[in-house]
Amino acid sequence: MQPITLQQQEQLKMHLLAEFSQVKEKVKTRLAVSSKPYLNELVDKVDEMNADLLIDSLIHSESHSLNIYKMQIKSIDAALQGIELGLYGLCSDCEIELSAEELFDCPTQQRCTACELKYQQQKVKGYKL
Ligand SMILES: [Zn+2]
Repeated sequence: MQPITLQQQEQLKMHLLAEFSQVKEKVKTRLAVSSKPYLNELVDKVDEMNADLLIDSLIHSESHSLNIYKMQIKSIDAALQGIELGLYGLCSDCEIELSAEELFDCPTQQRCTACELKYQQQKVKGYKL
């Protein structure tokens, strides 16, 4: 299988960054309606925060939607870090190259289909990785 080209990787990076700003907007909207003052106060700071800081700030939140956004931010950030490290597009378990098709369908994909299936099955059984 052909690895993705640098140009494709650059396009995927733009997708990821755009997705990150979209999730940030959703986080801001959700924070603004929170009943917890410390979360309301975060709204203005979200834009300046990087992924780690944002996830840390939301760590005590019990909101279901914020927890989903946190997961999304984590996977977007992992993909962006993969690009920085030159590991992007490799399955994080078996290191096989993911196809451009798979990555354009889902730029945050971290595993090949076989490993993803195994991972999901283990999650269902409640194994910790
Ligand atoms: Zn794999």
